Amino acid sequence: MKITVDQDKCCGAGTCVLLAPDVFDQREEDGIVLLLQESPGQDSHDIVREAADVCPGAAITVSE
Ligand code: SF4
Repeated sequence: MKITVDQDKCCGAGTCVLLAPDVFDQREEDGIVLLLQESPGQDSHDIVREAADVCPGAAITVSE
């Protein structure tokens, strides 16, 4: 799995961080998403897909 984030689309809602805090973080200044792991382990895949699905800005892209 490879994850990319588009910080221009992120509205800082933080849902991804709540779901997968090992993979996503937010910038302190403005809450914009930071990617901690581009290729997380298998045990994170389902929750990362869910984070991408529910992201209100469609800022998270997942490829296999
Ligand atoms: S869920 Fe989407 S909009 Fe919200 S912080 Fe994460 S990437 Fe940004």
